[in-house]
Amino acid sequence: MRLQTIAVHSGVDKDKSYNSVITPIYQTSTFRFEDIGTTKGYDYTRTSNPTRKALEENIAALEGGLSAKAVATGMAASTVALHFLRAGDHVICTNDCYGGTERLLRTYGDMFGFQLSYVNMADLQAVRSAIRENTKGFWIETPSNPLLNIVDIRALASLAHEHHALAFVDNTFLTPYNQRPFELGADIIIHSTTKYLNGHSDVVGGAVVVNQPALADRLHTIVNTLGVGQSPFDSWLVLRGIKTLIPRMKAHEENARGVAEFLSRHSGVQRVYYPGLPSHPGYEIAKRQQRGFGGMVSFEAKGGIEKINSILRSTKIFALAESLGGIESLICHPATMTHASMNPELREKAGINERVIRLSVGIEDQDDLIEDLDHALNA
Ligand SMILES: *Cc1c(COP(=O)(O)O)cnc(C)c1O
Repeated sequence: MRLQTIAVHSGVDKDKSYNSVITPIYQTSTFRFEDIGTTKGYDYTRTSNPTRKALEENIAALEGGLSAKAVATGMAASTVALHFLRAGDHVICTNDCYGGTERLLRTYGDMFGFQLSYVNMADLQAVRSAIRENTKGFWIETPSNPLLNIVDIRALASLAHEHHALAFVDNTFLTPYNQRPFELGADIIIHSTTKYLNGHSDVVGGAVVVNQPALADRLHTIVNTLGVGQSPFDSWLVLRGIKTLIPRMKAHEENARGVAEFLSRHSGVQRVYYPGLPSHPGYEIAKRQQRGFGGMVSFEAKGGIEKINSILRSTKIFALAESLGGIESLICHPATMTHASMNPELREKAGINERVIRLSVGIEDQDDLIEDLDHALNA
């Protein structure tokens, strides 16, 4: 089956009692045993639940993985992924990663003695120089947030494997429709399903996907032990959202491209970050390793912070909010919002200055979006 058919059909048809076409919400904490030691496959919802399982089958199939776990949030997914490592391991992380990921790594680093190196992963030589004896994980996020830098997953995964390290890829921004990390050598894929996979800004969720049997066993143990599995209701919402993933991704991209081209032509704009523009430094790699360029666009406006604040306050359709990947357009100021928790020195070094504005381009009418931005830029 091709991807859009998988998105619609995988993980449904679960109801053998009444043949409901849509997977029911099994809103139960526990399951009656058939007899001592015999269940119908489920005993307790922390361990497994049929609605969550349906979502997990769907996400695993979309990523071409062996096994997926749906968890409470994207950060829960990253937390689960970190448990594939041990205290004292060294992790190399992309230097402009999601702010919450940096905070998680820092917190775990302090608590459990992880060693961390943040490097510009577009520079393979810099990654090579950062490798230590105890390097056990490469934390890859591409395109990065919010600057949409592109790194070469295949090259990094093979470098990780040369050193017996795991290649983690956060595939939140592109989704399995636009980027296939396992085909490029990734070992563990992380998602914030809060974003495009659910796509409707009405749930928080996460997923971890693996494609090796040993990792699948460990993944199940970690999620069950930590108790971070997603609730049946939230799992059902994400499963519903995924059915329209591909038409949504196409609409997001068409609008994002229009917005990026509009911003590139606007005299009030200093710089546009969109990997689908040939001027973007990651354009060639993006073209090679991605099916599409996604729906996120960042830019720097000309002028001081007053101008930036004026733009952020002036849009009417783009709502000033964190998060991304929903059908509605959002505008965000990474330095004071999504990346406020990031170590300021690291933030500056990664180029996330206070003039950067990030857009999550929704699926509204493109002309309305462009007019909204034009009005805000000229306000
Ligand atoms: C939002 C996000 C996360 C964290 O996900 P939550 O669902 O907010 O916990 C992790 N990685 C990326 C790239 C994100 O955009």
